[in-house]
Amino acid sequence: MKKPFVTYQQIKKITEEYPTPFHLYDEKGIRENAARLQEAFAWNKGFKEYFAVKATPNPFLIKILREYGCGCDCSSMTELMLSEAIGIKGHDIMFSSNDTPVEEFQKAAELGAIINLDDITHVEIVEKALGGLPRTMSCRYNPGGVFKISNDIMDNPGDAKYGMTREQIAQAFRMMKEKGVEEFGIHAFLASNTVTNEYYPLLAKELFELAVELKEETGADIRFVNLSGGIGIPYRPDQEPNDIMAIGRGVQKVYQEVLAPAGMDDIAIYTELGRYMLGPYGCLVTKAINEKHTYKEYIGVDACAVNLMRPAMYGAYHHITVMGKEDWPEDHKYDITGSLCENNDKFAIDRMLPKIDMGDILVIHDTGAHGFSMGYNYNGKLRSAEVLLREDGSTQLIRRAETPRDYFATFDCFDILKDIKY
Ligand SMILES: *Cc1c(COP(=O)(O)O)cnc(C)c1O
Repeated sequence: MKKPFVTYQQIKKITEEYPTPFHLYDEKGIRENAARLQEAFAWNKGFKEYFAVKATPNPFLIKILREYGCGCDCSSMTELMLSEAIGIKGHDIMFSSNDTPVEEFQKAAELGAIINLDDITHVEIVEKALGGLPRTMSCRYNPGGVFKISNDIMDNPGDAKYGMTREQIAQAFRMMKEKGVEEFGIHAFLASNTVTNEYYPLLAKELFELAVELKEETGADIRFVNLSGGIGIPYRPDQEPNDIMAIGRGVQKVYQEVLAPAGMDDIAIYTELGRYMLGPYGCLVTKAINEKHTYKEYIGVDACAVNLMRPAMYGAYHHITVMGKEDWPEDHKYDITGSLCENNDKFAIDRMLPKIDMGDILVIHDTGAHGFSMGYNYNGKLRSAEVLLREDGSTQLIRRAETPRDYFATFDCFDILKDIKY
């Protein structure tokens, strides 16, 4: 059974202080998980996790991860600015972008970030924009085809817009070497939200073999292999969570099998995990405010898809706990809906839950990554607050909720809305 990281007593108190809906984060869980990741890869001297900022761009949370040695994986101007603002710079930033505007390369270089090129055409674009290439550069690889674990197709790299082909990455390394680059990295992200301990070791094997080949073919001094994101979390109660220790050991095994014999066992392993770092340690707290009995049974809550887009966008499952009714029989079948004028604004469809009464607090699980951050303003809806549940049980507001003032802010250079009162 999936249990929320807050108790009914706690959530009652917290919702007295902060109006629903809001995202709540679990400091204790975040810290324990970050420490485990470091332990799993402690065998690799240069190991570094670059937290994927897009997953949860909150400076308070990133500062917690920072205590465990994490840097930032950025892919846009504002993500770079956020990292800069919290004092993360230099090689503690990985700039893994695609379809990148030149100004963003310039900003990344200004911060001393490692630039991870998505395409071979960017070698010359970056050289021109910066007046020369940085000493350290990385390239993103896309092997094409489908990515399989045993006979299961995990994802479809051949269909993905990211990365360079095998020929292109070799060519890019040669070009960069000629242009003075001294240290090289290889990056690939081939499958998302993998709930299996085999993904990273398989990906690592492919990238380690590539590293050995590219060193031979181009003479490039390869300093790191970036396994990127993709380690998943068990959104469904019947899923077995990943075992990060087993994943670390699996990568270590192929490291010794492939890199060590080639004399390349000083290569650093980098990761860019987002979901795995924070996903389970956030939840969306919302209240039942309407019930409707038509052809189906509907419970309307005060959150909607702008607070959590994954169910509407991907049909993603998010577990729901009706707080205080954990032991009640799950004998009611509901659609749990938000208020958008979109019929896909449903957090759950035909979900068996305990009887829900108006005012009940619902906890929607696993929203700590790709939750708040995918928010938007459709229907004039406002983004919610983010609250941190501290280790000592106290709470801290780590982002206030938007107000109409924020929603109308982009009209501030016109007088057409000057009479709006908010
Ligand atoms: C989204 C993304 C990540 C993080 O992915 P998760 O699924 O959250 O682990 C890492 N690297 C890049 C380049 C990404 O685009």
